[in-house]
Amino acid sequence: MKTGDELVAGTSIKLDSPIMYLKGVGPKRAELLGKLGIFTVQDLLFHFPVRYEDRTRVMTISEVEVDNVAVVRARVKSTSVAPRGRGRRRVFEVAFADKTGVLRASWFNFSEKALKSRFSIGSEWIVSGKVTINRYRGSKIIVHPDTEKVEKVEDGESLSLGCVAPVYPLTDGLSQKAVRKIVRTALDLAESIEDFVPRYLNEKYNLPPLNESVRRVHWPDSSSDLSRLGRFQAPEQKKLIFNEFFLVQSGLALKRNIARKEQKGSALKAGPELMGKIKSIFPFRLTDAQERVLMEIAGDVGKDRPMNRLLQGDVGSGKTAVALGAALIAVWNRKQAAIMAPTEILATQHYRNITQLLRKTKVEVVLLTSGSAGRKEAYANIADGTTHIAIGTHALIQSDVKFHDLGLVVVDEQHRFGVMQRAELMKKGIRPHTLIMTATPIPRTLAMTLYGDLDVSVIDQQPPGRAPITTTIIGPAQRSAAISIIQDQVAMGRQAYIVYPLVEESEKLELKAATTMFERFSTGDFAGLRVGLSHGRMKSSEKEEVMERFSKGEVDILVSTTVIEVGVDQPNATVMMVEHADRFGLSQLHQLRGRVGRSHHRSYCLLMADTYPGSPAWERLRVMEKTMDGFTIAEADLDQRGAGDFFGSRQSGLPEFRIGDILRDYKILAEARKAAFKLVDNDPHLGKPEHSILRRALKERWKHKFELGDIG
Ligand code: ADP
Ligand code: MG
Repeated sequence: MKTGDELVAGTSIKLDSPIMYLKGVGPKRAELLGKLGIFTVQDLLFHFPVRYEDRTRVMTISEVEVDNVAVVRARVKSTSVAPRGRGRRRVFEVAFADKTGVLRASWFNFSEKALKSRFSIGSEWIVSGKVTINRYRGSKIIVHPDTEKVEKVEDGESLSLGCVAPVYPLTDGLSQKAVRKIVRTALDLAESIEDFVPRYLNEKYNLPPLNESVRRVHWPDSSSDLSRLGRFQAPEQKKLIFNEFFLVQSGLALKRNIARKEQKGSALKAGPELMGKIKSIFPFRLTDAQERVLMEIAGDVGKDRPMNRLLQGDVGSGKTAVALGAALIAVWNRKQAAIMAPTEILATQHYRNITQLLRKTKVEVVLLTSGSAGRKEAYANIADGTTHIAIGTHALIQSDVKFHDLGLVVVDEQHRFGVMQRAELMKKGIRPHTLIMTATPIPRTLAMTLYGDLDVSVIDQQPPGRAPITTTIIGPAQRSAAISIIQDQVAMGRQAYIVYPLVEESEKLELKAATTMFERFSTGDFAGLRVGLSHGRMKSSEKEEVMERFSKGEVDILVSTTVIEVGVDQPNATVMMVEHADRFGLSQLHQLRGRVGRSHHRSYCLLMADTYPGSPAWERLRVMEKTMDGFTIAEADLDQRGAGDFFGSRQSGLPEFRIGDILRDYKILAEARKAAFKLVDNDPHLGKPEHSILRRALKERWKHKFELGDIG
């Protein structure tokens, strides 16, 4: 194996070298890269672009079209700050000009000083981004464009002009330009990447060489097919996606072999008496659908084969009750149960609801999140069996959590968790029964391909007594109407959510949007009302406190980033206002909308769109006005976005795959799964020489994830 080039004098950089030692990185950038999960040079090479910008065809301003991505080369003509106004946001605007005209670009939530000095009059820029129509002026504008200064060409080659520029996921403090540069440096090492897919499979599936694929994905050249790259359908992308799936599937295949040899799971008795006792816990009658699913679960856990069931149910269909029911079957069979939720807020809410429902029983429940106090004691109680139900985030799967006798695991909103994390938790018990719950419909075939022998249950019914939700798309001009709906509802004693999206690739902008608007609302439109703020950067204790106050009705309006997206339950909330709704996927909007309409009060979902009726962005949202059916919306969403980030895994902070997308790349996934399972069937210990690299890759990457004892 080659060791790679000499990049820093006297140091030989290898693929597994810490990223800090790569030329142009250093400790500070290394820290930023760490936030993106990049710790070694290899990690950087596998940090792939999310999209590409065609800068081979820089256009003139006169050629720019609304709703398309534009790339222009222009000089700064003037800058300005648009005035504050009622309900309006402060905007920093730059007028860029070339020979053919003027194009404006705008920034919200900015430091005026920084932007002013950055865009000095006369400086020349490559400006790119999606073009929209400015709501006040009616002129073309790019909001938060990608900008790169045209400077003296440094290394004999510009990284931004005359090429297809990759666009990477970023974190604050890292620019596109910086990432492009260091990736470029790292590419010298692409040669030494070993391919764990045996040659015969590469030939069979017609896959190009791995190192070449890595290079071409980061650095497309004139022979690249940009439109296929944009759709993740280029051969080089297929190769990388195949590899990613193949490794996981090989691990799953080995795991399955091991599981087959393991002892049986333990059967839990769930007779009519126990089921009656469970049903009596709830202050409401279970819906027929809930009851049916609970019976399906009782049937499963009654066998000595561990349950592996996926429960799909639209938002608000009452999955939590089913989860608790399942947990109680375990507890009243003298076993422990674990309920894992994707966020602290959700875990806390489950904890609160469940302790309330169980207050008259002797069932001991504990909450375990990374932020919760008294963890030592919780660990001890979980370990000696004092705790019956442990509720938590992924803190539940940390290695210092040891269960006394874990009988059943519920994973809520499963699309937020990776395969690995699920497996990690299951390792903690002797083959516990597992219930996976999701509000995002997963096609059955896909679920099978991903998770093997999953049985699927569906709750296809909402609890009774729910008033309808009126959904309306609202343009900038009608903003005041939306504000008065909120004011009216609060005056009637109801509560409201106002949500801000993830803007671009930066988490900080989202945060700022929510924070500044919170301040503006508190003193402006909603002065005198109780406005609360919740966002991802707040301490978990602070977040919990706000949520607690909101659920007690002590906060009228909750301004937040997308942290409330999944699962939060406050029946008294009747307004969901989503800012910049056109930047959300439909499924995500449906999830958000599901936060309201949970009582007999009429509810409102206000989709604030930065566009105008008739524009594609506006028309896309119309599905939301037309239907409340999650499956229909998911289909439309898939259609529109080609499954790009259907599962929103990028926003979860728990990315499962770096380039592969289980829905979009479903066919590749199926191929990789077939190939991997066949390989493992033929060579269960991966002892053949042509499988030695795969064996090593699995051991390296899955060492801590799976007990791959069999391959030694
Ligand atoms: P989701 O499926 O989105 O997780 P939840 O479990 O949060 O839904 O339930 C939504 C709301 O419906 C909660 O307030 C819950 O108490 C209520 N609920 C659940 N089941 C019923 C039922 N059978 N009858 C009345 N209300 C119910
Ligand atoms: Mg839920």
